[in-house]
Amino acid sequence: MTTMTDRADRRVIISVASGKGGTGKTTLAVNLALALSAFHDVRLIDADVEEPNAHIFLRPDLEGSRTVELPVPEVDKDRCRFCGRCAEVCAYGAVTVIADSVLVFPELCHGCGGCTLLCPEKAVTERPRAIGVVEWGRAGEVAFVHGRLNPGEALVPPVTRAVKEFIRPGGVTIIDAPPGTACPAVAAVSGSDYCVLVTEPTPFGLNDLALAVEMVRKLGLPAGVVINRFDLGDRRVEDYCARQRLPVLGRIPFDRKLAEAYARGRTAVDDLPGWRDRFSALGREILERASNGRRPRISDVSDP
Ligand code: SF4
Ligand code: SF4
Repeated sequence: MTTMTDRADRRVIISVASGKGGTGKTTLAVNLALALSAFHDVRLIDADVEEPNAHIFLRPDLEGSRTVELPVPEVDKDRCRFCGRCAEVCAYGAVTVIADSVLVFPELCHGCGGCTLLCPEKAVTERPRAIGVVEWGRAGEVAFVHGRLNPGEALVPPVTRAVKEFIRPGGVTIIDAPPGTACPAVAAVSGSDYCVLVTEPTPFGLNDLALAVEMVRKLGLPAGVVINRFDLGDRRVEDYCARQRLPVLGRIPFDRKLAEAYARGRTAVDDLPGWRDRFSALGREILERASNGRRPRISDVSDP
């Protein structure tokens, strides 16, 4: 079996996701990053750009930032003949032509460039519009990156893609994905080697886990499950995982001290005895599965 020692210089990308918020996803991502940083070059990317909060626990020293921009159209009224082609090609309703005026709605524009390309009069130019920011720095041994969508903005994936540009060759990248199974979550987990799905043993937890499993299977990602507060619910999540042949990678019990550390913005790995070893063991298990998941499966190997 290939081990992490064999491939210390190889890049491994682990995404941590959940079908709904409040399952302990960020807690897991942050603690895994801290525990694994004792053995590996670790980068934590907080891709929950609508509500990034990994920084609350890691308290990184920020070293730089970059504005995320989208190119939005501007129309030269002297050139425009109000032919309506730009409105026809825009799939997002971000531009409309009424009589002798062209209206652009920048907040709807996805910056695809279609109207600029197809305007027969070359009347459309583009200007950058800021929709968010990426910030980076270090939290001890952990390299840290997060994105923030500007207030009032709705277009998440461009900021998600901007934070993922900080994935580097070599080392371990842990992506804290946004909750849910919509475009922001898909953009965050796509391309990872392994996806850890965090859930709780409740009916809601099971329902949202099933949606998250559907998402990772459509994306072709190997995945396993961590059950948080596993001792406060029933067995239905465990039974579901068994039926779906999903490995249960870890079971985190409800622990009052864990909850208190969370409320103080502290981590279990740093504050609570024994938890560093537990998260290190879980991290090693995930890394091994990520490595094995990248091997060609028998069905993927061509006949000689
Ligand atoms: S496609 Fe160009 S010329 Fe036609 S309405 Fe739009 S901006 Fe004006
Ligand atoms: S750049 Fe694309 S999304 Fe934006 S207005 Fe033009 S066609 Fe629509």
